[in-house]
Order: sequence, then C-alpha cells, then structure tokens
Amino acid sequence: MNKGKQAAIRLREEIGLEDPNDIPIEDVVIGRGGILQYKSMGKIDGRIVYGKKVCTIFINSDIQYEGRRRFAIAHELGHLEMHRGSLIHDDGASLEWFNNAETQLKKGIQEYEANQFATEYLMPSSIFHAEATGKIFGPDLIKQLAERFLTSLTSVVFKYFETDLHPIAIFHIFNGKVRYWKKSDDLRVWIKDITRLSPPEDSVAMEYINADYEPIYRANDLRQEISKSTYFNLKDYEDDTEFYEYCIVTKAYKNILSVVWEK
Ligand SMILES: [Zn+2]
Repeated sequence: MNKGKQAAIRLREEIGLEDPNDIPIEDVVIGRGGILQYKSMGKIDGRIVYGKKVCTIFINSDIQYEGRRRFAIAHELGHLEMHRGSLIHDDGASLEWFNNAETQLKKGIQEYEANQFATEYLMPSSIFHAEATGKIFGPDLIKQLAERFLTSLTSVVFKYFETDLHPIAIFHIFNGKVRYWKKSDDLRVWIKDITRLSPPEDSVAMEYINADYEPIYRANDLRQEISKSTYFNLKDYEDDTEFYEYCIVTKAYKNILSVVWEK
C-alpha cells in the first residue's frame, strides 16, 4: 500500500473517524496543528507553509465548488501529516495534481502521496467500494459518488479507476493537447498515439475544445456515443463498435478529463 493511503487510514484510526463526513475537515486540520486561511491565489488551489509549531494552510477563496475545495484541503492535510519540515509548497489546479509522470518527476513523490492521502481520506476504500459496486458506470454514478463523499468529480473518477470496478480509459487533455492517459487492464484496446497531440477529431473532447470549453452537453447528454475507432486502433479483423465518452471540463483551466468505456 502506498504511503499516502496508509497515512490517511492511520489518521482516521487515530481520531476514530469512520466516515469523513462525520467531522468537518476544517476541524481535523486544526486538531492536527494546522491553521486554515482563505485568500485569492489565482491559479493555485492550495499552499502550505510549514512552521515549527503551527503550519498554515492557505486555500484559494475563489474555488467555486465545495468538492474541489474539500479536495484541496485534504491534499494540504496530507502534506501536513506526511511532509512537515519541507519547504513552502504551492499547488496548482487539482487536475494537474494527479499522477502524471511528467509532474511527478518535477515536483517529486510528495504530490502523488498527498493525492493518495486526500483520495483515501475523503473516500475510504471500503465505503467507496460498497457505494459503487453493482451500479452502472456513467456520469450519474460519478455525480452521485461526488455528492456522497463531498469531493470533486475528477477525484471520484480517479478513485473509481483505482477501485477497478468497471474497465475505463482516462485521458487528461490540457490546453488542447492530450497530456497523458491510462486504462484499466481489463479494457482490451490499443490506444492511438495521441499523447502531446490534439484529441481525435471525432471525439467529444474535441467538440468541447472547438466550443471554447463551454458546457455543450448537460444532464442526460453528458454521456455521448463514440466509436471504438475514435480513440483506439482496430486490428484488421476487428469491427468498429460503440463506446461512450464523458468529459469533465474546467473552462478556467482549459482542462478536460475524458472518460471512455465500452457500450
Ligand atoms: Zn501538494
């Protein structure tokens, strides 16, 4: 088990917390020697300043979504629990915190650990598993889980991916280019060579880019039909089949998290 997940489980045990919704996360931060402050910080979601006795966590007061704000706090709480004694630390848009090899090399393993901490703290694996098992995967389930755990849609998608309940592929697209992707082992597909390139012309992600990241799909339309050949290479003998694509779009950051799965 990774260090971040372990630290979250240890913290929950130490304070006797079974469900993270039982105690406000703000109170947990204070209890663990942190001070929480809000201020406008541009594109930075959170920052921690480590002191000898007290550590100050700054959270961007411009964050609009409660789920995203809580994920930012949980991420900084992870730094507080695991990385005390390091230097001052800034955190950018939450989507970039996720484990992309490029970022990991630059900012070190601490980011990965803080994300793993936040993910496990806000969405305890056993509860998550119980809530998600046996339910049809799609935008509705992601939203339901985000509301249940009061966290961001993005973090739910990554948790779901880890839990391995249903095979999916995830593409992170930033500023019009595919930054990285990952897929469940059980999704037997060959992903096209699109890293650092634009998403496929016939993808839903591309529709959003062409629409300047405006919310072109809502509610029941969030799940769009695409072809297998949109994102994947077909073998000679293979027929094209139907897939779904669901994009979580953050216009302010030109970020798209695209989730693809078989129909
Ligand atoms: Zn961080």
